[in-house]
Amino acid sequence: MKENQKHKIIVIGGGYAGIQTVKNLAKNPENEIILLDKNPYHYMQTEVYDLIANEEDFAQITLDLFTYCSGFKNSNVSFCKREVINVDFKNNKVITTTDRLSYDYLVIAVGSRTKFATNVEGLREYAYGIKALHRAMYFKQKFEMSLFKKVDEGGATCIPLSIVIAGAGLSGVEIAAQMASFAKEFYKQNHFICRKLNIILVNAAEHILFGMDKHLVDKSTKRLLDLEVVIKNKQKVVALTKTSVTLSSGEKVFMDFMIFAGGIEPNGVVFNLKLEKNERGYIQTKPTLQTLEYKNVYAIGDCTTLRDKDENILAPTADIAEQMGELCSKNIKCDQKGQKLQEHKIRSRGILIALGRRYATAKVFGIYINGYFAYIMKKMIERVYSKRLDIHSCIGCKKIFDE
Ligand SMILES: Cc1cc2nc3c(=O)[nH]c(=O)nc-3n(C[C@H](O)[C@H](O)[C@H](O)COP(=O)(O)OP(=O)(O)OC[C@H]3O[C@@H](n4cnc5c(N)ncnc54)[C@H](O)[C@@H]3O)c2cc1C
Repeated sequence: MKENQKHKIIVIGGGYAGIQTVKNLAKNPENEIILLDKNPYHYMQTEVYDLIANEEDFAQITLDLFTYCSGFKNSNVSFCKREVINVDFKNNKVITTTDRLSYDYLVIAVGSRTKFATNVEGLREYAYGIKALHRAMYFKQKFEMSLFKKVDEGGATCIPLSIVIAGAGLSGVEIAAQMASFAKEFYKQNHFICRKLNIILVNAAEHILFGMDKHLVDKSTKRLLDLEVVIKNKQKVVALTKTSVTLSSGEKVFMDFMIFAGGIEPNGVVFNLKLEKNERGYIQTKPTLQTLEYKNVYAIGDCTTLRDKDENILAPTADIAEQMGELCSKNIKCDQKGQKLQEHKIRSRGILIALGRRYATAKVFGIYINGYFAYIMKKMIERVYSKRLDIHSCIGCKKIFDE
């Protein structure tokens, strides 16, 4: 590199992985970083459960990426709201819907989206996803409107509100518990006689949270049952109409609406990228997080899959995404200095599952915590995360106004 010439780095995706990468790379004034995201905000998906329970509004679970990027001391980060549609890897150019941008290093951190299985009739038309913020908000409003309608009907009719959640992974379980406890509280507070809300959790595996620690599975199952959530294990949704769900057993469940949390796939742009992918379409990387084909291109977060030393796939979480961002930025630094790149030793630092108002179950650094204390711990981790981003954005705001 010539003297005074900066390293042009493009990071695609301002999620957990992308934000962490940008933060670390910004420390080197010789880096000139552009963060691209199709949305102008960072969406804190791990806090969706509080959005649904009305404990937080959407402003509290989003962060403006423009002010965030303006807050770096070296003023070497800029944000461009762009949807990336492809990458010309041979000529080091990112192709967006409006322009082509050059890079020396590229970090792909575009995350994942809800995978609506095409063989399930009616799924796309009648089910709600929660991976995108606008969908989560739409569903929250629908939930509240449905509750209101039940109140409006008065005591004369007491037809229960029925909600089906398909998929009992982390997000399906958290949402089922949160809705059940929210509605319980709502009915109790207002002394409504008709308190019936049916939440049916449909799960293809033998038990909920398949693949997770047994203690967490047992605690979560008990909590859901206490909240009167109906769990239907070893069942798949095979068809949907506006008012009913047909399960693989042949059972027909009537419902007011359904949330689909039954699977994810990499975000759309990944399908266009000419990179090696696994059988489920996720970008394959070396242990250094570089793509198999290009040493200056890294892929991190939910659009890739990472395996531990025993070849087990690490569950896609914000924690893993952040650690990948950390390592990716370290390796770009090593590469810039001509040093050997580090291979990943990433493992889950902990899992915290929110299970309704002020209750959670967790395993953090091998220690189990349950109940209110686990909830406080989850909240504290989220608070620290968002507070740090917030402070940074305030600096960004000030800089923009001072200019
Ligand atoms: C309801 C729910 C609850 C969860 N709870 C937890 C939890 O408790 N703990 C936990 O650790 N994890 C949790 N997760 C998982 C966690 O949110 C994800 O693992 C994490 O968001 C992955 O981070 P990421 O940076 O890879 O992707 P994301 O955070 O999804 O960010 C990807 C970014 O890329 C952008 N993007 C996508 N396509 C393009 C494009 N073509 N052009 C430009 N930009 C693009 C998106 O707008 C987005 O900003 C939860 C997820 C959900 C849905």
